[in-house]
Amino acid sequence: MRSHQSRIRRRRRRLPPGTTVTDLRMMRRALELARLAAAAGEIPVGAVVYRDGEVLGEAANNREASTDPTGHAEVVAMRQAGERLGSWRLIGCSIAVTLEPCSMCAGALVNARMARIVFGASDPKAGACGSLMNVPQDTRLNHRCPVVGGLLRGPCAQELRAFFRRRRAERRAAAASG
Ligand SMILES: [Zn+2]
Repeated sequence: MRSHQSRIRRRRRRLPPGTTVTDLRMMRRALELARLAAAAGEIPVGAVVYRDGEVLGEAANNREASTDPTGHAEVVAMRQAGERLGSWRLIGCSIAVTLEPCSMCAGALVNARMARIVFGASDPKAGACGSLMNVPQDTRLNHRCPVVGGLLRGPCAQELRAFFRRRRAERRAAAASG
């Protein structure tokens, strides 16, 4: 009994207000995709588009492999979801993404009529969902989208920090070896 209750407490601690256990499940998957991306030398950001608990699109940042300047996880996952639904309007869909969306992705999410944005770590350098600007909630645009940040913030940020630390070390080693 006690262990059951403490399990519930642990789960509640991980869920910021406005997020659900489905969001948590999707964010865990996004984090898994981010880890796979890191192993392939991509900046580790993952995203999952879902509706009613069903995954409609999932991707990691793939700019290196695709040589596509728009190859951010959110954009790639949204393209899949659009194909799957046969519509560019992602009505009723949520997205879980490990890093706060940038201005390009936030703009694309608003254009897709995304119903909710759930992100993990904040991005003070490029975040456009509350950090540098708040595109999804700009009242001048014709669609607004609720945003919740901080779901699995720690592990999402840790994945990025570890990636950049490894990359710096590799570059130092390469420079030292001439
Ligand atoms: Zn982006």
